[in-house]
Amino acid sequence: MDNYQKILTQYWGYPNFRSLQHEIIQSVGEGKDTLALMPTGGGKSITFQVPALAKDGICIVVTPLIALMKDQVENLRERKIKAVAIYSGLSKHEIDITLENCVHDPGMKFLYCSPERLGTEIFRTRVKQMNVNLLAIDESHCISQWGYDFRPSYLKIAELRELVPDVPILAVTATATLDVVDDIQDKLKFKEKNVFRKSFERKNLVYLVRETEDKHKLLLKIANSIKGTAVVYVRNRQRTKEIALMLRENNISADYYHAGLTSAERDSRQSEWKTGKSRIMVATNAFGMGIDKADVRFVAHMDLPDNLEAYFQEAGRGGRDEKQAFAILLFHPGDQRKLEKRIESSFPPMDDIKRVYEALGNFFQLAVGSGKGVSFDFDMAKFVKSYHFNVLLVYNSIKILQNNGYLEISEEVDNSARIMFLVERDDLYRYQVVNAKEDKFIKLLLRSYAGMFTQYRAIDETVLAKRADTTKEVITGFLIKLGRDKIINYIPRKKVPQIYYAAERIDARTISFTADNYIRKKERYANRINTVIEYATHNKCRSQQLLAYFGDKNPARCGVCDVCTKRNELDLSKFEFDSILNEIKGTLAREAMSLEKLVDTSKNKKEKVIKVIQWLLDNNKIVKNSEMFLKWNKDESSINRD
Ligand SMILES: [Zn+2]
Repeated sequence: MDNYQKILTQYWGYPNFRSLQHEIIQSVGEGKDTLALMPTGGGKSITFQVPALAKDGICIVVTPLIALMKDQVENLRERKIKAVAIYSGLSKHEIDITLENCVHDPGMKFLYCSPERLGTEIFRTRVKQMNVNLLAIDESHCISQWGYDFRPSYLKIAELRELVPDVPILAVTATATLDVVDDIQDKLKFKEKNVFRKSFERKNLVYLVRETEDKHKLLLKIANSIKGTAVVYVRNRQRTKEIALMLRENNISADYYHAGLTSAERDSRQSEWKTGKSRIMVATNAFGMGIDKADVRFVAHMDLPDNLEAYFQEAGRGGRDEKQAFAILLFHPGDQRKLEKRIESSFPPMDDIKRVYEALGNFFQLAVGSGKGVSFDFDMAKFVKSYHFNVLLVYNSIKILQNNGYLEISEEVDNSARIMFLVERDDLYRYQVVNAKEDKFIKLLLRSYAGMFTQYRAIDETVLAKRADTTKEVITGFLIKLGRDKIINYIPRKKVPQIYYAAERIDARTISFTADNYIRKKERYANRINTVIEYATHNKCRSQQLLAYFGDKNPARCGVCDVCTKRNELDLSKFEFDSILNEIKGTLAREAMSLEKLVDTSKNKKEKVIKVIQWLLDNNKIVKNSEMFLKWNKDESSINRD
């Protein structure tokens, strides 16, 4: 057993690594810059956590997903591994304290960090003082302008490298097309190209596209025929509720989930679904981060997604237990038009974007020329109302401003209340002696949470209220009082996304987007939408289409998707099918001919030949010329006969 394996067993209790994990860890351990492509659920985090634990020092993990970050920090702490996180939305004091602990606590192993924090002076100063052993970049596709989720602050990672030039980098992502793979290594200044790529094939996942006029009816049929837990994705919040109710009216246990619910509602729904109390979760794409339920039997999409990256990730939540599961896309011919419309709405006219930018600056009361590196709580509802904007326009304008490096928006994070003691224990004691009322409360605090003298600790007012047999309001009152007396720093609970200015506010009239950043982005967005439409409409193995998109070379037919099944229904053995196909290919290579003649020329049974011809036509291997003669389609030269 090598050292890495020992660490895996000691902290995680697994006897062995999953495929590729060990190779990636070894590459990192040898000090090589490494890019690891692994589908969600493939055990990405282990690949940086294990090598970081094997060495002295601290690993810096960059990720834009704050919820995931918090989840992982908690997870590590449960395993008695010291980990902390900094991101916009924390107070300056909290960030200072956290960074200081990373410098002075030799036991500190992981510093999670959102990308916009990287450029700050305090961060740069502290990093230089830390004993960094690894830079791990999660969601590394965010560094690529060609990717679907570019974040300009990711480009700062290259500067971070300069501060710790001898530290290797491990970039991980669950999704990257070939051009993005190159770009990531380039932008991260890899010393040598070095990519590990886990196949994106999911053998137990059956991809189905079902065309229908009545999606609700079809969903009911699916829910009744496939037993077990499921997720149904829809695009808008209102519809999550409608569909959940529709299912319930038909005696199917269902609930709904979207970002507009309170976090208590979201938590309880997620946990009821996880424990099997509710069976089907109807949700927007807000549902997914950190859901780790192995036995999801189907994932249905009621609407077409924007891109195959998102589809693959969401569909991939089915069948993590390696047992058969279904990924079903419900498709209505009208969907195509709807999706195409999204191209225009996602790229609002330049003047509208400028108006949104101008209004944002005013909303945050930010003077022109200032604001660089500052983040603000962003109450979208209030903003939209104050300036009479349409939500979608604001959302899409911000995305484009983000693409162009003006500002960035972070996800909405539910930050629980935090406190830290500002006085030493002796001073606290003196305070307790003269403040009898607060004394009891302070004792309760000290009994409930540890470590509050050196760091901020998340607290739960409701739990404290229960323990003290009082109300939450009373507890909050105490916290405010102690804050006023400068005994503690108290940061109340907050739940809003942040807008971060990557550059100082400028005069909106001078905003300009390069062709690369607007026109070509729009083209790429349109291309991605087209691949989704192709996925839904082409008669080609669904799994093959997805794998080819993610750069798998010569992916095999899955044999179980709806397209493959149709081919199987031809009722021909593989041998028969192949020999007839080769015969036809040879004949048509010599000359184009009518269907009748082609069938007559064959030595094989007529019905069988017709079946194969039909399949070849469906799959675009044979096309008709102007005289309606059949000919072999040279553009479709490669044929996979697995
Ligand atoms: Zn297939």
